[in-house]
Amino acid sequence: MSLFQDVYDVIVVGAGHAGCEAAAAAANMGSKTLLVTMNLQTIAQMSCNPAMGGIAKGQIVREIDAIGGYSGIVSDKTAIQFKMLNKSKGPAMWSPRVQSDRMRFAEEWRLRLEHTPNLDFYQEMVSGLLVDKNRITGVRTSLGIEIKAKSVVLTNGTFLNGLIHIGDKQFGGGRAGERASTGITEQLVDFGFDTGRMKTGTPPRVDGRSLDFSKMIIQPGDEIPEKFSYSKETSPLTHQRPCHMTYTSPEVHELLKEGFDRSPMFNGRIKSIGPRYCPSIEDKIHRFADKDRHQLFVEPEGWDTCEIYVNGFSTSLPEDVQFKALRSVVGFENVKFFRPGYAIEYDYFPPTQLTHTLETKLVDGLFFAGQINGTTGYEEAASQGLMAGMNAHLKVYEKDPFMLQRDEAYIGVLIDDLITKGTEEPYRMFTSRAEYRTLLRQDNADERLTPLSYKAGLASEERLMMMEEKREASDKLVKYFEETSILPEEVNDLLEERGSSPMKQSDKMFKVFSRPQIHLDDIKKFKKVAAYIEDNAIEKDVLEQAEIKVKYAGYIEKEKANADKLSRLENIKIPANFDYSKLKSLSYEAKEKLEKIRPVTISQASRISGVSPSDISVMLVYMGR
Ligand code: FAD
Repeated sequence: MSLFQDVYDVIVVGAGHAGCEAAAAAANMGSKTLLVTMNLQTIAQMSCNPAMGGIAKGQIVREIDAIGGYSGIVSDKTAIQFKMLNKSKGPAMWSPRVQSDRMRFAEEWRLRLEHTPNLDFYQEMVSGLLVDKNRITGVRTSLGIEIKAKSVVLTNGTFLNGLIHIGDKQFGGGRAGERASTGITEQLVDFGFDTGRMKTGTPPRVDGRSLDFSKMIIQPGDEIPEKFSYSKETSPLTHQRPCHMTYTSPEVHELLKEGFDRSPMFNGRIKSIGPRYCPSIEDKIHRFADKDRHQLFVEPEGWDTCEIYVNGFSTSLPEDVQFKALRSVVGFENVKFFRPGYAIEYDYFPPTQLTHTLETKLVDGLFFAGQINGTTGYEEAASQGLMAGMNAHLKVYEKDPFMLQRDEAYIGVLIDDLITKGTEEPYRMFTSRAEYRTLLRQDNADERLTPLSYKAGLASEERLMMMEEKREASDKLVKYFEETSILPEEVNDLLEERGSSPMKQSDKMFKVFSRPQIHLDDIKKFKKVAAYIEDNAIEKDVLEQAEIKVKYAGYIEKEKANADKLSRLENIKIPANFDYSKLKSLSYEAKEKLEKIRPVTISQASRISGVSPSDISVMLVYMGR
């Protein structure tokens, strides 16, 4: 009797960050889902740093949570330290980040998935896809088992023909200690897919018992930690584990240089492109030769373990060179290694072969999410997994797809960038990639996305109600500031202290509080405001959001107006069979790119590199606009 008789609605291949979110989303929406992965012991493994969030990535985790994914909840439950980065900058830049307990993170994900209805598990390597007339019908495993499905989400991460490098040694593997995945790339190439190679690297992990932390600079978490999830399921940390910081030195650099001739980065053995913003230590020394030291963050891997992640020391130099150089770092004089650093090369598929739902253009019902699309990072992967899982479900049940615009979410920016522009190097998110970042803040991801997700069938009613309560409370507070006056004698001392010009006559609180010199803590100094906050039991997140709505009202309005302008172009749809060859005045490059990417709207067409404003005018005239 065969192991699998049913036809699944959705099969998710791979249980990394993308696969876990995809499986949870599809199953929670009601799809009969199977998660097939090579090793059930490494579900949601953090392949590199034990941390979630950070600049722009923290906003993505908040968005995932607002939509009903699990990354935020899992991160909160397994955090050992919380920091709100960029707090000294405007709120568009505030980015939550946690240091995670690596083992508990993976365990929490696995247990949550086990408690998810409609979700089955199977451990094996998928080595091929079942396709009938350009339509996916299932997967084939390395044991030759065929499992039928109406849709398949591939989330193979760094495993496709993965090749690990340490110095002049190289061997096949998807991650240290795990074998590579073979078969899928070759089959997809036969179907007509383009493929490429990318690389990434990771630092050594060391024994904390062998380090002298007293020589390093302590890096504590926030005094008043917050959390990722908007839900009541998690709470901020009550105690935290500190990280530490130290530096490399000219001596360390010299020792590392001794291994350059055996470095796969420099001797041409690694040919593929790595993440520009996460360079290896050898790359940093080579590229920034004038810098005599680089920061190293010494990060615990969990609450109880003594294993330490040496952030900033990613390397594929020979292990003896890594070891000798690290022993010259202050505080690391007696270091013992748990695992050496390494680099990995793997196959990816240029994401211009996908639509906005992350479905492939070539095979109906086949979706790609995560590192397979040329991205890097857990958050980027998880958010794509969530979107692909939701859309796989929606497609099977013949419902409208779930797509996010660039002014609605970083996830919208990410997917639009990937499918419109493609990527030649590992893509990671930055706030600068978003043109509407004052709208896409970490504090309002629930307002932006929970209603959309609820409508699509994922976010729960409870989440929607919580979001509405919070929005009403902050809008009410803003209204109170707009309607309540404040007298000069109540505020002038503070204004003087803050170097802001004094008031001559009574004015509305809204105007006073919108002055950049007045902070959230100041607001509570006014008796009537303090009383209002207490009487209405206003919580910190509501207060913070009201402050942002007051202080940034001008910017928010301006970005909304710009986004509205864009949405007019977004509404001009390009027919699927649009014949670009008929437009003689289009530039050759524009014609070629438009044919390849087949944008669905004029707005998307305008974002393709090589398509100029005059090309857009030609298209608009042809379309009678
Ligand atoms: P992964 O987390 O790689 O998960 C893939 C999953 O698919 C695994 O569970 C695997 O077992 C399974 N799988 C693969 N093929 C098959 C198959 N055929 N059948 C069944 N199951 C399969 N990110 C950064 O942001 N910064 C960094 O510096 C960084 N460095 C990294 C260094 C290394 C060495 C590695 C390996 C990764 C690094 N990353 C880094 C990337 C980060 O780990 C990934 O972006 C993220 O984990 C991708 O998530 P994913 O779900 O796409 O894939």
